[in-house]
Amino acid sequence: MVSLGCPKALVDSERILTRLRAEGYAISPDYAGADAVIVNTCGFLDSAKAESLEAIGEALSENGRVIVTGCLGAEPDRITEAHPAVLAVTGPHQYEAVLDAVHEAVPPKPDPFLDLLPEQAVSLTPRHYSYLKISEGCNHKCGFCVIPRMRGRLASRPTHEVMREAERLVEAGVKELLIISQDTSAYGTDWKKRGSKAPILDLARDLGTLGVWIRLHYVYPYPHVRELVPLMADEKILPYLDIPFQHAHPDTLRRMARPAAGARALEEISAWRGIRPDIALRSTFIVGYPGETEEEFQTLLDWLDEARLDRVGCFRYEDVEGARSNHLPDHVPPEVKDDRWHRFMEKARDISEAKLSAKVGRRVEVLVDEVDQDLATCRTMADAPEIDGNLFIDENLEGLSPGDLVTVEVDEAGEYDLWGRLV
Ligand code: SF4
Repeated sequence: MVSLGCPKALVDSERILTRLRAEGYAISPDYAGADAVIVNTCGFLDSAKAESLEAIGEALSENGRVIVTGCLGAEPDRITEAHPAVLAVTGPHQYEAVLDAVHEAVPPKPDPFLDLLPEQAVSLTPRHYSYLKISEGCNHKCGFCVIPRMRGRLASRPTHEVMREAERLVEAGVKELLIISQDTSAYGTDWKKRGSKAPILDLARDLGTLGVWIRLHYVYPYPHVRELVPLMADEKILPYLDIPFQHAHPDTLRRMARPAAGARALEEISAWRGIRPDIALRSTFIVGYPGETEEEFQTLLDWLDEARLDRVGCFRYEDVEGARSNHLPDHVPPEVKDDRWHRFMEKARDISEAKLSAKVGRRVEVLVDEVDQDLATCRTMADAPEIDGNLFIDENLEGLSPGDLVTVEVDEAGEYDLWGRLV
């Protein structure tokens, strides 16, 4: 399995592998030992599509028997034109079609002992944390995004099914669940019958009873998000919100077809901080969106100064095939996008550095991710794996293992990371 793309794609890969392992297939660590290769592709940006096509080419030359799935699978012609030798192409979430393609390429050997589902799902992340996907698709129509077209409208998994998977993961030793979807705050709003106006609140409350870290990703800034924060104040879920604001100027947001306005977002942020002052806020932004003027960009920088987010990612706008934003007038020249990106990142770095240095001297709980001879790589509640920073411990590591929760006193801060010692 070659798994490309975002955590949502990773969850799809895990599901496919779990099903295949349940049928008795083994997973090969390299091309040479595999009877076939599944490439789970990403099709979000043109650069990701190019990377996916390259990965398919590599799998073909190294192994020769390749099944393609994932987001780029929604454009089968593009794949077969570039690589006519692929065995099959299936689209995102077409689990059954991928399994059929594998059955055809490598017929399963019947084995009554292996015909049961394994106790523990196959996980591509370290055992102590796991992604948990709660819905597919999205009902928004952001101008720069083709995900609703590729992944369809919002379809939420039933709460009992999500909870069953969460409980199994916790029983298997998972200490942190990363809740993902395209639009986490919209969870359940697609159900015809629902007990409450915002089923995400009920789900977060239920997940909060499991006694592990619960981290919410991709939370669209709806007003009811404010009601999630008391669960953070009560330590039921992590005081962490990953909210893609994308921009702050109302005109840019309008052109992006995102209803949230920058000023409103500042009010919400201040309300969240009123409930849980140390809430960690992560967000992503796009600079150089078509028509973005210097004044609009400056509004974004000023907004960032006020919002003082903890973690920030920034993308230079890129046309994506099929996106409505491609047809907007006044595309921003690449050198202007670059300049804005650097200015934005400089400000974000200064804010991050200042916020982290304020943590020096504090005691924090951390989850240990990795331990080698002279360094333990850990994360605080404010750090999601892979996208945020780390806290490093470089002394008295004996006895530490991945998955441990320990208390640390922070003794040094950098631009994005912290250092500390065990207490
Ligand atoms: S909310 Fe996210 S997934 Fe949905 S259209 Fe907007 S950017 Fe795309």
